Amino acid sequence: MRSKTKMIHGGITGDEKTGAVSVPIYQVSTYKQDGAGNHRGYEYSRTGNPTRTALETVIADLENGNAGFAFGSGMAAISSVMMLFNAGDHVVMTDDVYGGSYRVMTKVLNRFNLHHTFTDTSSTEAVEAAINENTKAIFVETPTNPLLKITDLQKMAEIAKKHDLLLIVDNTFATPYWQQPMNFGADIVLHSATKYIGGHSDVVAGLVVVKTKELAEQLHFIQNSVGAVLGPQDSWLLMRGIKTLALRMEAIEENTKKIVSFLENHKKVSTIYYPGRESHPGHGIAVKQAAGFGGMVSFDVGSGEEAEKVLAKVRYFTLAESLGAVESLISIPAKMTHASIPADRRRELGITDGLIRISIGIEDAEDLIEDLQAALHE
Ligand SMILES: *Cc1c(COP(=O)(O)O)cnc(C)c1O
Repeated sequence: MRSKTKMIHGGITGDEKTGAVSVPIYQVSTYKQDGAGNHRGYEYSRTGNPTRTALETVIADLENGNAGFAFGSGMAAISSVMMLFNAGDHVVMTDDVYGGSYRVMTKVLNRFNLHHTFTDTSSTEAVEAAINENTKAIFVETPTNPLLKITDLQKMAEIAKKHDLLLIVDNTFATPYWQQPMNFGADIVLHSATKYIGGHSDVVAGLVVVKTKELAEQLHFIQNSVGAVLGPQDSWLLMRGIKTLALRMEAIEENTKKIVSFLENHKKVSTIYYPGRESHPGHGIAVKQAAGFGGMVSFDVGSGEEAEKVLAKVRYFTLAESLGAVESLISIPAKMTHASIPADRRRELGITDGLIRISIGIEDAEDLIEDLQAALHE
């Protein structure tokens, strides 16, 4: 099955019993057993729910993995994956990971002695140097947020293999439509499904796919023990989102290219971060490992005041956190999504006060461009 067909026919489709074309929402907590301990595959919805199972099956299909798992948020997914490790273990992570991933590592999981080193994973030397005898995994986000840095997945997989580590990839920005990290050797792929997979700014969810049966057993044990599961309604919404993921990603890609070329010719815009530009340092790798570049673009307008002016003037770009929806969104990372990262650390990473991040939606590109043009006007 090719990827667009998989989004429609992958996983579990419809309902055998009634012929319903859409998977029913099994709004249920417990299941009648035929005898004590003799159930029909489901006993309690934390352990398993048929609507969630259908979603978990389709995401495993899309990421070419052994099994999928749905969680109550991207952070619940990431935290549950981190519970595969023990106190004293160490994880090497991309330095400009999502702010919440940074926070959970530095403010929560550190209290359980799960150690971390943040490093520039676009440099193999830096990753090699960060590995120590307790290292158990490399956690990579590519492209990153908000600077769209690219990590070479194949090189990371080689390092992980050499040192017997798990390679975990946050694939939120690229989506399985454009990038399938398991094809390059990733062991675990995860998503904030709140973003492109849901795609309509109406659900908070996380998804994880693992490569082996052994990891599937371990993660199911954690999912059931910790219980950060996704409910049936939200599971259904994600399946609906997946059905149009290909269409949305194609439309977003087209709009993004047009908007980037507009920004390139605007004198108020200094630096533009978008992996689709040939001048982007990760462009060559992005082309090699992903079929598209996504709809996230960041650009610098020089100062925080200037950035706020733009945000105050836009009409079609909604001023909001989050990304990956049908509607275009705009934000100032330093004041919003990345505010939880200390100011000096932000500066170190290159997240300036004048940096604007846009998540491009599926509106008419011409309207979006006119909107930015008016907002960037003196
Ligand atoms: C949003 C996001 C997360 C966290 O997901 P939630 O669904 O908000 O908990 C993790 N990683 C990336 C790259 C994200 O954009």
